[in-house]
Amino acid sequence: MSSNQQVQPTVFVIFGGTGDLNARKLAPALYNLFLDGWLPAEFAIIGTGRTPLSDEEFRGRLLEGINEFSRNGKAAKAQWGEFSQHVVYQAADVNDAATYQQFGKRIKAYEKEWQGPVNVIYYLAVAPEFFPVIATNIAKADLATDADRTRIVIEKPFGHDLDSARELNQLLDQTFQERQIYRIDHYLGKETVQNIMAFRFANALLEPLWNRNYIEHVQISVTEQLGVGERSGYYDGAGALRDMIQNHLLQLLCLVAMEPPINFTADEVRNRKVDVLRAMRRFGPEEVRESAVRGQYGEGWMEGEKVPGYREEVGSEVPSNTETFAAVKFFVDNWRWQGVPFYLRTGKRMHRSASIITIQFKDAPHYIFPPETAESWQQNRLIISIQPEMSIRLQVQAKRPGLDMMLNTVDMVFDYKGTYTNAAPEAYETLLLDTMLGDQTLFMRGDQVEAAWDLIMPILHSWEGRASQSFPNYSADSWGPELAEALIARDGFHWFTLPLNGKK
Ligand code: NAP
Repeated sequence: MSSNQQVQPTVFVIFGGTGDLNARKLAPALYNLFLDGWLPAEFAIIGTGRTPLSDEEFRGRLLEGINEFSRNGKAAKAQWGEFSQHVVYQAADVNDAATYQQFGKRIKAYEKEWQGPVNVIYYLAVAPEFFPVIATNIAKADLATDADRTRIVIEKPFGHDLDSARELNQLLDQTFQERQIYRIDHYLGKETVQNIMAFRFANALLEPLWNRNYIEHVQISVTEQLGVGERSGYYDGAGALRDMIQNHLLQLLCLVAMEPPINFTADEVRNRKVDVLRAMRRFGPEEVRESAVRGQYGEGWMEGEKVPGYREEVGSEVPSNTETFAAVKFFVDNWRWQGVPFYLRTGKRMHRSASIITIQFKDAPHYIFPPETAESWQQNRLIISIQPEMSIRLQVQAKRPGLDMMLNTVDMVFDYKGTYTNAAPEAYETLLLDTMLGDQTLFMRGDQVEAAWDLIMPILHSWEGRASQSFPNYSADSWGPELAEALIARDGFHWFTLPLNGKK
């Protein structure tokens, strides 16, 4: 979301510097920001972890990560040589308070070298159990007293439930001001997701239609072909509702449903999003049964390869009750959306990896065409495809060329690839740059996170309170359990999928 503001001299302290997130996302993102000229001349990256490593060894690890995962491919020798001079490593246990004095000394040394104050970003790329101890130790070492210049970035998951999220917010509040806290939901950094706001609020055309009078229902579907794989340690006991719906899908819903903010500042945008979460209808036990479906994948075949079921992958002795699929029907009880269902669905080991939002408009009020054309007739749809295809499609009816009056559905398409030649930045590039610039628009505010937890707690309680008797209830390479089809079919709709390269 950055404009052409100047980034101040910055020190990044990356907790979890030896971890997967740094190798896969943070290091490539910082390197690409460097290549694109976004980083200031004065910047430093201090990586930290318990593994004993020299600066050179640590740089070597980052280079491997960049070579494997950067959107720009392998790093060129000269540019990497320049970038790597800004990277150092400090082996440290986050529980050891003395470590933080060392960070303080290093930061002071940079201030001296650069002859001025520096911005310091503490990036917590570690397991959530370490968030409290790191925040407390930063405070004890007086490393975050300058609220204008110090920031803390918290990775997902932010809490395990409403109580733990509240507790973490309270703990962070004791050390940091809200404007220093950057809670990451990396979905919000994606180009296509940011564009939802541009599309809605920079075009007068849509607003008159964007309400219960014209929209029949909304679908938000985020499906993955991958299974749980190496993440099973974290995932088992978390599940699809916590891992995806509480954050990414509800944030997408907020972007679709929010009122226009009065301007594009972080708090105005976040106020309107939190309004949506607060307006969402709460579930009692009966509504959970009626409006929420869970699933867990069994074994199956994916693209010709046999894949194990979730329980085999997790390998626990007691059969896991964790859901790998969730579908929920929500309502937003306000003037704009009263009576319009929002169907959210997410799952692993699904037939295709795709994130799409479908806005289905109501029927035309009266059908004037010959009855034989009615068969091919379809309501208008607006489809915002977030990934892998990055596009916005408006599906309308058109007359098929010919002497008779036959209608069919055609797509008016805005496709990123066809429209822009420059590559879209990765979400983490956008988010890291915003952190440096002090722009919180794309980050979750404390009350937003709590409102999202509050909404899903009845579903979590209900699902955790009674183990599913039907798990596993969908096979790999499917679209999830049959009950999820029934959830939407009861209302007369079906889950929409975007054909991939013309194929279903
Ligand atoms: P990971 O690969 O297991 O890395 C964990 C990091 O924590 C390592 O660098 C490890 O360093 C460090 N660490 C553990 N105990 C420590 C201690 N006592 N003192 C100091 N450092 C310690 O985990 P990850 O996948 O990078 O995930 C990190 C966080 O990002 C998690 O909250 C995760 O949910 C979140 N996240 C990750 C991804 C991803 O793609 N990986 C995506 C989204 C969110 P040593 O082993 O050297 O001690």
